[in-house]
Amino acid sequence: MDYDRRRFIQIAGLTTAVGITGSQNADSANETESTESHAVAQKAAGGGPQWAMVVNLKKCRKDKGCKACSMACNQTHNIPSTENPRHEIKWIWTEPYEETFPSQENHFAPDSLQHKQIPVLCNHCENPPCVRVCPTKATWKREDGIVMMDWHRCIGCRYCIAACPYGSRSFNWEDPRNSLKSITPDFPTRTKGVVEKCTFCEEKVAKGEKPACVSACPEGALVFGNLNDPNSEVRQLLRNNFSIRRKPGLGTQPKIYYLV
Ligand code: SF4
Repeated sequence: MDYDRRRFIQIAGLTTAVGITGSQNADSANETESTESHAVAQKAAGGGPQWAMVVNLKKCRKDKGCKACSMACNQTHNIPSTENPRHEIKWIWTEPYEETFPSQENHFAPDSLQHKQIPVLCNHCENPPCVRVCPTKATWKREDGIVMMDWHRCIGCRYCIAACPYGSRSFNWEDPRNSLKSITPDFPTRTKGVVEKCTFCEEKVAKGEKPACVSACPEGALVFGNLNDPNSEVRQLLRNNFSIRRKPGLGTQPKIYYLV
């Protein structure tokens, strides 16, 4: 049993502690995965959109120092910068390949992947453990699959941070407004003591626009679209290319797909 799975199972204990039954043993993870796959397939047969993102690692230039996506995200969402790495607020950031895909890493992977910096963000999981543990419903999954946050309802318990196996949530240990050099007025700032994360730019999606990171990428490495539309660009990319997702054994069913 690897560290990630063991930690994830430990989190299941936390889920139970807040009165919600978890199902994070290996067998049930597989069962959940097939159930969720079925749910996605069912939704694909009809119904509203299911938003997802495809990250084409052959096009991404993070390794060359490109920060276009994270800079656009930070500016759009009033994300503060801090010198203290333990207090960092991250919506889209990078992790080395071997830490992003620990179950798929091997010593003989191509040089183009070994130690490559991979853009990571909230996976907007089909089966999000963060939602199950939140005691105030400050985080929830919408019909279109976006995992949302209501910062006014967040009480800062950080159960969601413990439950997320991807490190996709950040806690405001400091007042974020103190370290904003400029403020984008049409997006709310947050306060000390609340958790935050990527929301797939739901405010832009509602207007028919792409997420800020997708629009900012100069290489077209990030593609956002509707999994339920067989003609969407994301479906075409997934149909014609081999893709992987992060920690598939956990049964969370991430909606960020990586082309390697
Ligand atoms: Fe929740 Fe983490 Fe999945 Fe995002 S990646 S939906 S924060 S469990």
